[in-house]
This record gives sequence, structure tokens and C-alpha cells, in this order.
Amino acid sequence: MDKLIKNCLTTMNPKILRIIKIVGRKADQKNLKTYLVGGIVRDVLLKRNNLDIDIVVEGSGILLAQEIAREQKKKLIIYPQFKTATLFWSEDIHIDFATARKESYPFSGALPVVAPGNIRDDLFRRDFTINAMAISINKDSFGQLVDEFGGLVDLQHKKIRILHDKSFIEDPTRILRAVRFEQRFRFCIQTHTLNLLKEALKKELFKNVKAQRYFNEFKKMLKERDVVLCFKRLIQLKALSFLSPGIKINLPLLQQIDKNIQNLRRVSSRVDPSVDLICLMILLERLKPKALEALLSRFNLRREDRVAIVESYKWKDIETKLSRGHLKPSEGYLILKPLSQTTILYLRFRSLKRIVWQRIDRFLKNDQMVKIFLTGEDIKNLGCTSGQKIGEVLDNVLYEKIDGKLNNKQQEYKRAKELILL
Ligand code: ATP
Repeated sequence: MDKLIKNCLTTMNPKILRIIKIVGRKADQKNLKTYLVGGIVRDVLLKRNNLDIDIVVEGSGILLAQEIAREQKKKLIIYPQFKTATLFWSEDIHIDFATARKESYPFSGALPVVAPGNIRDDLFRRDFTINAMAISINKDSFGQLVDEFGGLVDLQHKKIRILHDKSFIEDPTRILRAVRFEQRFRFCIQTHTLNLLKEALKKELFKNVKAQRYFNEFKKMLKERDVVLCFKRLIQLKALSFLSPGIKINLPLLQQIDKNIQNLRRVSSRVDPSVDLICLMILLERLKPKALEALLSRFNLRREDRVAIVESYKWKDIETKLSRGHLKPSEGYLILKPLSQTTILYLRFRSLKRIVWQRIDRFLKNDQMVKIFLTGEDIKNLGCTSGQKIGEVLDNVLYEKIDGKLNNKQQEYKRAKELILL
């Protein structure tokens, strides 16, 4: 085994190492050449932890996965149309099995036409040299690096390089991937690759891909630890117009996010701020309403995220309501309660008014958790039969409790009786 790889494999998570040896032994029994590929190889060489094990088999990946699943008694999901399978080894470790394949693109942005191939073909269809390496896991060649395109040298020189000149044309989502890996590893996009990337941007090749596919790749960027660096780079490359033509981004605001997320975590121990969604809110904040509407209809977002984005877009109005001079805690509660937690945190981050922070903090830490002792049944027993009235009484008892007027069950009873008669 190559000394470098041996050295890297010894620093690998021992659980993962044990699993790939088990896979390798089974592959030997079935006489299948089998490799670890893609991101995990790159991360092994960088000595970074990665629990996503990608295996490529010269032969049936599904067959090998089935044998291992049976023997190890693990859950397996098969995707026959892609000739892949995912084996769920443990809660945090899963293994993707694929059959080595060759891809060709009938036109820019099209889904590739796929045919069985060998490991070289499989590596050649990949995005960048650093992601296009494999490590053999069969016993007699265990740890041998397959590096046909100079990935190791690029890794050492910290370069992101495509495998051939048509790469961005074939799949424009690689533009976003190039920036994501460049910023994550603090690498540089190699000069020729960068020129081709800029050409692809000028030609607006992203229009050749289904908007949702491009957006899905973009969402991965939102989840990066260094999301702000990624956006700085995308702004510099003018690579955000796929969101909306001529979009203007509030970069100084984005740059504040890291520090502010720490603050938000302190304020709201119950909700972890969705940094990705908050970043998206900042990006979309300066769009005109029509442009926002167009964007939301083009990209498929989770319903709750879409609602939160629309709410956050109106943060100024909410801020105005929340900064009124005399506002009872229950009135603050009524303004904030219908909003999503992310919208509230966004408002907390966005507003510069101390009174707004105080009111949000009170809501998050206290008021939103307040519960009353009385139930609908209790109100019924007091002789109230109308469902609507019961709801109103319970709501009012809650509001008065939030305002600190009711401190125990007796007081709630007494007040409920009065409210029923009103
Ligand atoms: P991450 O660490 O973010 O998971 P990754 O390299 O594992 O990064 P994935 O998106 O999980 O990235 O993809 C796994 C592998 O599949 C990549 O390493 C790359 O070899 C290949 N790949 C993914 N997307 C593309 C693409 N658009 N074009 C070519 N190859 C791709």
C-alpha cells in the first residue's frame, strides 16, 4: 500500500475503516472490484472526518449491497432506476453502493445518458479532480489509490480543477459546487477552470438546468459552515443572478450573521436558528415583491420555509407594531405568536431597536411557554356551552396570565367566571 494512503487510512475513523474492510471481503468473495470513491476519498486524504461512504463496484453494486445487508442484518433501500442502493449501517453511518458507470450528456444541462463502465469511466464523469479519486478496498489491492486525473497533486496544491473543458457546459450546477469546495477548503479555483466558469456564467448556462436542480445545489451551499465566504465569492463572480436577474445583496448584513447567530443561540435556547433559512431571507430581502413571488414559484421550498420567507420580507411592519410605546406583554405575544420561529429570530437579528429585542426575548424565553391551568372542560362546567365563547375565555385568561395578573388556579377560575358573564 502507498505510504501516504496508509498513513491517511490509519487516521480514519476506525468504525468506517472496519466497515470498508467488511465490504472489501465480501467483494472479494463475489469477485467484484470495489472502490471507495468521491468525497470520502478526498476527505481521507485531507484527514477530515466524513461518514458518507460511497462505494463503486465494477459489476452490480446492488448485488454486493444486498449480500452485505443480509449478512450484517442491516436495512437496505434499492434504487433500481439508478442502479444504486443505500445501506443503513447505523444511525449516523450509511453506505451508498453504485455500479461503475459511464455518462454522456446529449445537451447542456440534460440529465446524463448512463451505461455500465469501469472505475476510470466512473471517475471521469465526476466534477473536479479532487472528487475524482478512488481507493481500492479489495484485499490484495487494499489502499491503492486510483488517481487518473491528478487529484492528489491538486489536493496538495489546493486547486479546484474540472476534468475537461465541457464540464460546466454539461452540468452547470458544478459552478456552485466549485465555489462551495473552494471556500470550504480555502482552495483556489484553477485559472483555466475559473475562466471556463466565468464563461459559463456569462452565457447564463444555469438556464439550461431545471431551476430546481440548480437551486438544490445552492441549498447545499446555504448549509456550509462558511456560507458567508461562499456568498462573497458568488457576489464577486456575479453568480447569483439565477435567483433573480440583477439581484442586489446586502453583503454587510450577511457578514454580521456569524456573530449574530451566536447571540440568537443565547436568546433562544429552545430553537436552533436555521442559519440557512436566515441567509436566504437576507439574500431575498431587497427583491421587489413581484420578483420574490416569481422566485418562490420557480423554486420548490418546504411550505414552512416559504411562509417564513414571506413573513420575514415584511419584518419592518412587524418591527413597527412591536416598537409601540405602550405594549402589554400579551399584545407582543399576539404579534409574535403567529410567526414562525425563524421569522422571529430574523426580526431579532434585523432590528436595531432595543425595545424590539427586549420584547422578542421576553416572548421567546417566557411568554410563548405560558400555559394556563384551566381547560375547556372547566369552562363548560362553569355553565358555558358555546364553543366560541369557551375559546375566547381561555384565550383571555391566557393573555391576563401573560400580563402577570393571574398567579394561580383559583384566580384563573374567578376571572373565567367574570369573563363568561361579560
Ligand atoms: P460533501 O462533502 O459536501 O458531501 P461530496 O463530494 O461528498 O461533498 P456529494 O454532493 O455528496 O459531494 O457528491 C458525491 C460525489 O459525487 C462527489 O464527490 C463527486 O465525485 C460526485 N458528484 C456530485 N455531484 C456531481 C456533479 N454535479 N457532477 C459530477 N460529479 C458529481
